[in-house]
Amino acid sequence: MEFATFADRAAAIEAEPADLEIVAHVRDLLEDAGDPESTDNGADDRIATVEIVARFVQGRVFPAWDSTTLDIGPSACYEAIARAAGQNVDADDVEERLADVGEIGDVAASYDFGGQRGLSAFAAGQGVGDNDLTVREVHDELVDLAAAEGEGSEDRKVDILFGLFNRCSSDEARYLARLVLSEMRIGVGEGTVRDAVAAAFDVPEERVERALQVSNDYGEVARVARDEGLEGLDAMELAVGRPVQAMLAQAGTVTDALEEWEQAAVEWKYDGARIQLHYDPDGLESAAGEASDATTRVFSRNMEDVTGALPEVVEFAEGTLEGPAILDGEVVAVDEDGDPLPFQEVLKRFRRKHDVAKAREDVSVRPVFFDCLHADGDDLLEEPLTARHDRLEGVLADGPQQDPDDVDGLSLLWLADDPDEIESIDAAALEAGHEGIMLKNPDSAYSPGRRGKHWRKRKPDVETLDCVVTGAEWGEGRRATFLGTFELSVRDEATGDLETVGKVATGITDEKLADLTERLEPHIAAEEGQEVDLEPAVVFEVGYEEIQTSPTYSSGYALRFPRFIAVRDDKEPGDADTLERVERLRS
Ligand code: AMP
Repeated sequence: MEFATFADRAAAIEAEPADLEIVAHVRDLLEDAGDPESTDNGADDRIATVEIVARFVQGRVFPAWDSTTLDIGPSACYEAIARAAGQNVDADDVEERLADVGEIGDVAASYDFGGQRGLSAFAAGQGVGDNDLTVREVHDELVDLAAAEGEGSEDRKVDILFGLFNRCSSDEARYLARLVLSEMRIGVGEGTVRDAVAAAFDVPEERVERALQVSNDYGEVARVARDEGLEGLDAMELAVGRPVQAMLAQAGTVTDALEEWEQAAVEWKYDGARIQLHYDPDGLESAAGEASDATTRVFSRNMEDVTGALPEVVEFAEGTLEGPAILDGEVVAVDEDGDPLPFQEVLKRFRRKHDVAKAREDVSVRPVFFDCLHADGDDLLEEPLTARHDRLEGVLADGPQQDPDDVDGLSLLWLADDPDEIESIDAAALEAGHEGIMLKNPDSAYSPGRRGKHWRKRKPDVETLDCVVTGAEWGEGRRATFLGTFELSVRDEATGDLETVGKVATGITDEKLADLTERLEPHIAAEEGQEVDLEPAVVFEVGYEEIQTSPTYSSGYALRFPRFIAVRDDKEPGDADTLERVERLRS
């Protein structure tokens, strides 16, 4: 397929507002990319044009699983455009036009590259007139460009790009420039390509979708759909070594989760960086299918290979896993006691390429896994969460050093239908230094790349309230000398009384408890058993998930999931929030 044909279609797509019409254009492009008997087919080991086209329409040169980039900055691209545009143009002119026009595609299209055509064709050993760029040529040149490394590579990249622009018409230049700078933006998303593949090769959309989830490459899916039909698509499987898109979470409340699912799978939310672990004791194939000795590869949420930065994760995998597996989890920075450190600490390790051993001395990391996508030859994406979690536990518990009652690297999962139980899991998570909780639909499949409603991170507090502390309870065990579980009240402006709205015990470290006890103890007005009444003196800022009406507290309202944020030293009880504000926030 000529690149001009691709550019024509891209222009038509860009001008088309209706989604269905866009799908039809992409379908035509895929159909026109070449039939199975043509030289486009993989017989000669070259990539099929249909694969390239399926990626190019989305502005990609490489498959989605491949983190290779062209690694070319905008200025190198401007330089190449300027050179192709002729002697009177330099990169500054290109930038000036860009400042006027606002978009690199339009800038590239505004130059006439034709003047150099004969010359470049001659230099490339082609006859004049034999100068039409094909989609395949553009692809192959860009692959070479991406591969240029080391000294002089920047010049080499500019040369390659210059060679391409030199052969472009105005429309071709527009889409080449956008492709190179990853700014295709013609309105073709993954859903469009899915529907277009289904329409072009007469296969159901949901089977295309499944094939995409396991292969993570629309190019391959389009080629298989065309050449092998539904049978081929259904036979596609996860490849251990090739990253899958991570399933994502939405914000949500406990109340919503329980309404929708009857019971929720509750997990701690770890404050680290997402990782996907691929392990095969016999050596992983690279994502592109080449054999290697490496047993373990670790990918980031964006599917970058971060194996080198995280030797602890590799050691963990090699010491724990027995068969091939793909695990989804989080890598967390920890102190000497294994307690979690803030997210910023993980960042010191996560993408590090140099001095990893030194960085490891300063900050240690440990993996925690919450999902299992593949184990011992079985793809598990379509299994329910609870079954995947059981499998995960089995895979991790197999390790020689594992204690079956406390499996290292396993994120626990509780099934709960009682908000109070969820509240106590949340409290335990915060106390252990984690971010909070995740709520998941126990029956849901693993949907790569989806920010669906089956995974919810507990919504952060939208509003906070400043409440007067009017009571507390002495703690138990190691906390017996601390006050905890603080009773919160707001002011009723009409009567001048303080009315209770809830109790907060969550979000407070031992150190903070000691400090709060010291502040509050002088204000104890009465004591009975563990309970104490406090004179109004101290104001807490608290977050909460929602406000409900409740007979439990004298205000008639209760804060759901209250958590301690700070002491408001700047406020007196008379400055605390009012019952009227609580009523307003509730409605
Ligand atoms: P956010 O980054 O705030 O959108 O929250 C989602 C992220 O939380 C995920 O991408 C993971 O990196 C992280 N996370 C921590 N613990 C879990 C868990 N138990 N399940 C799923 N994601 C988790």
